[in-house]
Amino acid sequence: MFIEEQLSTPVYGEYDAIVVGAGPAGCGAAITLGRSGLKTLLIEKFNCLGGAWTTGFMNPLFDFEHKSGIVREIVTDLRKKGQFGGFWDKSFNYEYMKSLLEEKMSDANVEILYNTTFSRALVKGKTVYGVIAENISGRYAYLAKTVLDCTGDGNVAANAGCPFELGEDGDFTQCQAMTLMFLVANIPEKYKDGLMLYEKLSGAYEKAGKEIPFKVPYLIPVPRSHFGVIQFTHMYEYDPLDAAAITRATMEGRQQLVDAFEYLTKYDDEFKDLELIGSSNVLGVRESRRIIGEYTVTTDDILNGSTFDDAVAYVEFHADLHTRSNKGQHCFGTKPYQIPMRALIPKDYSGLVVAGRCISGSREAMASYRVTGDCAQMGEGAAKYIAKAQKDNCDIRDVKLKLRLTE
Ligand SMILES: Cc1cc2nc3c(=O)[nH]c(=O)nc-3n(C[C@H](O)[C@H](O)[C@H](O)COP(=O)(O)OP(=O)(O)OC[C@H]3O[C@@H](n4cnc5c(N)ncnc54)[C@H](O)[C@@H]3O)c2cc1C
Repeated sequence: MFIEEQLSTPVYGEYDAIVVGAGPAGCGAAITLGRSGLKTLLIEKFNCLGGAWTTGFMNPLFDFEHKSGIVREIVTDLRKKGQFGGFWDKSFNYEYMKSLLEEKMSDANVEILYNTTFSRALVKGKTVYGVIAENISGRYAYLAKTVLDCTGDGNVAANAGCPFELGEDGDFTQCQAMTLMFLVANIPEKYKDGLMLYEKLSGAYEKAGKEIPFKVPYLIPVPRSHFGVIQFTHMYEYDPLDAAAITRATMEGRQQLVDAFEYLTKYDDEFKDLELIGSSNVLGVRESRRIIGEYTVTTDDILNGSTFDDAVAYVEFHADLHTRSNKGQHCFGTKPYQIPMRALIPKDYSGLVVAGRCISGSREAMASYRVTGDCAQMGEGAAKYIAKAQKDNCDIRDVKLKLRLTE
């Protein structure tokens, strides 16, 4: 059944670039676009910057070590504030991350709209010329020369009609597990640098007479504190593109985390004083749309260390798939490889670029470049290509840039 809607949508403003989604990819992109002098709008549905870094209570920050650019700058600045280190020497304080990113956006003159949800791509043929988004002020059109989809799920590209891949040949049940991260406080001093929690949790589950849902859980404290996040809940076979399924997965995650907290505090003396602070406002979705681009990063590329003339990111991270079959992770090594700009350009489309985990790649390749250091560098690289294309008034496919990706 359908209903007809008649809409007359006011135009809020015109921009050189609009970035939708303020996760690692969107932040890398927006800061770079602003610094390049482009009039830039950043649209984010929550009330902070960082995406999975902050709203998602994610830690540690993977694959920044040898990169140049934004990610290095963020890590260096957080370290100077004493807010980076701890668990695997890669973890950070969520609030400091949010405020640092806001500072960088302001310095780069990026206009931010929080609590604003993208709803529709404005598209003529295969050219995207803006977006429609909704917030407390109403429903507005935001026009731009280039729209950058950094929503993680490829929401803008999909709405514009770009083809995408999902799971294994469209079978979402093969997508990686979802996780609802949760914060705990009063972590025992001896574990303030973190702990692989399997022994502890499996012992507690055994005593409770229950089956453990995931075998590679971690307790990841925030540096210089006695609170941190537990990466444990695992929900399988939910459709990441179905709101009702995501709701059910979130509720299952909440039950899993309460169970885990209760068994741990009840059956493990070392954790009897642990406190439950709360779960993330957003369900952690590891895998959803992979937008089909002008190039698709293949599993061979990540195994063979492929390099490209139009490289925008340098990836050293292994492939890491959270799989149901072993209630754990299926990991395999990669050879450091690059991601080409062409994998960020939806096939045959103009005015639209994607960055972050939704770019064009095989499932296995995505399982490697999905980590946040890589997503941030993709956003930064994409922004440099966009700025050059606008300066030279040419199609982004014709831009020739040799980016320095490593330090
Ligand atoms: C449970 C879990 C644990 C992980 N652990 C790690 C880890 O330890 N280390 C690591 O480096 N990586 C980790 N990852 C991977 C990493 O977090 C993601 O792959 C990465 O954050 C993707 O970055 P992104 O910028 O593409 O998307 P995201 O970080 O998801 O950011 C997307 C942004 O877009 C916004 N958005 C989405 N839709 C809309 C809309 N319609 N309108 C407006 N805004 C919108 C979202 O609110 C969000 O801010 C983990 C992922 C998960 C799910």
